Amino acid sequence: MSLDGAYDEGNPFALILAGKIPSAKLYEDEHTYAFLDIMPQSKGHSLVISKWSKARNLLEMEDDALAQVMATAKKVAIALRQALNPDGIHIAQFNGSAAGQTVFHLHVHIVPRWEGGPVGFSTHGQGGMADAEELRALAESVRAFL
Ligand code: AMP
Repeated sequence: MSLDGAYDEGNPFALILAGKIPSAKLYEDEHTYAFLDIMPQSKGHSLVISKWSKARNLLEMEDDALAQVMATAKKVAIALRQALNPDGIHIAQFNGSAAGQTVFHLHVHIVPRWEGGPVGFSTHGQGGMADAEELRALAESVRAFL
């Protein structure tokens, strides 16, 4: 999908927000929702989305929605640091399929990184689909810091 187009109400993150598919929730407030990625690039790979904005990418995002998402990304990054003690934290955001975007509801990736580990993004995460029970347990341990 290009940078231009209509918001798809059936995209996975819209379905998560509507409660139609499950997610490993980390944090939620009035404006934002944070959860674990199902195909993680590292342990603790998290995503933050706006609960109300229909922006598909950064270019369309309302300034207030962007500020809300980034404030939550900061909270989650701090909690991930406390929970997992990474050496670094990669914050990323892709716009358009040519840039690697696959879900067209704006989201910010928060990827804990460790020295000697991978630094890039692979198409299906580092190990494919994560185990749902492992994600649930990991989310619980991160939530303790939020
Ligand atoms: P992007 O390539 O920036 O569009 O990233 C989309 C991310 O969403 C990828 O890292 C996927 O693994 C992740 N993802 C897709 N569907 C789900 C889902 N149902 N729950 C959690 N993460 C998802």
